[in-house]
Amino acid sequence: MNATVNQLLDQHFELLTLERSTMDTYVRYADKHIRPFMGRTPIGSLDAGVFGSLYAELRRCRNHCDRSAYVEHRTERAHGCDTRCRPHVCSPLGASTIRQIHFVLSGALKRAVRWRWLATNPIAEAEPPPAPRPSPQPPSAQEAARILAETWKDPDWVCWSGWRWDLLPFGGSNGSWGGSARS
Ligand SMILES: [Zn+2]
Ligand SMILES: [Zn+2]
Repeated sequence: MNATVNQLLDQHFELLTLERSTMDTYVRYADKHIRPFMGRTPIGSLDAGVFGSLYAELRRCRNHCDRSAYVEHRTERAHGCDTRCRPHVCSPLGASTIRQIHFVLSGALKRAVRWRWLATNPIAEAEPPPAPRPSPQPPSAQEAARILAETWKDPDWVCWSGWRWDLLPFGGSNGSWGGSARS
């Protein structure tokens, strides 16, 4: 069976049962980020290297520009250019989008294995794109210091923390201060 990636995606999308909006997103991702790069490749000749270069391209430029300078216009319709039309600067596709593209491809290829179009799944050997960094981030050292400083302004917290009132000059182990501190 020598179907191309395009043919496999067509069949795959026809059989997918997903919410309309998710489906539209996947179809859009495939049109913009998969088909132009490997659409005409026979699925039998896919290997880990092909997926590696696809993911590298997705991390290079979300618009897949040809590296020559051009202006990103604010609209595709006829318009007078203003400050919203700027020179294109390459930025990577987000990590979570790259992962979704990976899931679209691996889902389609699993189907190809089930249909015996392929003996093994070539994407199983590809290094999956890294997971997006967890969000929200744990507090940074700076934030942690600020939280601690806020806490110290709260006298109740100072008591609970086991402040040694008896070591203060006006206290003493038998002083009233020491006795009244919650310890
Ligand atoms: Zn413009
Ligand atoms: Zn670019």
